[in-house]
Amino acid sequence: MHLTRRKFFGLTGAATAVAATGLVLPEIAHADTKALNPVWIESPNFTAGRGGAAVDKIVIHHMAGTRAATDSWFQQTEAQVSAHYGIGEGQLSQYVAEENTAWHAGDSAANRSSIGIEHSADIGRPPDDYTYNTSIELCTDLCRRYGIDPNTGILPHKQFSSTDCPGEINLQRIIDGVNAAL
Ligand SMILES: [Zn+2]
Repeated sequence: MHLTRRKFFGLTGAATAVAATGLVLPEIAHADTKALNPVWIESPNFTAGRGGAAVDKIVIHHMAGTRAATDSWFQQTEAQVSAHYGIGEGQLSQYVAEENTAWHAGDSAANRSSIGIEHSADIGRPPDDYTYNTSIELCTDLCRRYGIDPNTGILPHKQFSSTDCPGEINLQRIIDGVNAAL
C-alpha cells in the first residue's frame, strides 16, 4: 500500500465518524474464499472484470498500519487504492470480489492478473502468527482454485512498482506454508 502517515492519521477521524453514524457494514455477500469466511467490507476502488486476463498470481502487501485503518481507507473513494483481501488483528476482510480488478500493484497488467492481499505489519512490526497463518490458508485456497504454483506465483508488491512493500513480511514463510498445505 502507498499511504503517507498523514493519510493514516486522517483515517482515525474518518473511522470514528463512520462508527458514529451507526452504519452497519454488509456481511460476506461476495466472499470468494468461503472456507475462511471473510468479512465483506466493500471498496468502491476497483475495475469491473479482469479485462480478459486470467488470474495467475498473488501479490503480497503490508499495510504500514492496522487492518482497521485499511478497512476504513479502502472504503474512501479518494483513496483510489484497494486490494481483494486484508488480514490482521484477528480478522480477514474482503474489499473487492475476485472476479474484479483491485487497485493494489501500481501496474495495471499486474492488477488484472492477480489477487492482492494486504497484511497488517509496519516497520519494526512484522506480521503476527494469526496474520501469517491466515495468509497461508488464503493463499493455499487461491493456489488451488486458480492453479497457481506458490513457488512462482506468490510475489512481493515491489516486483511490480517502485516501493518497499511488503516491508518485513517473510514471503518465504508464506510460500513454504502453502507448499506444506497443498
Ligand atoms: Zn503494497
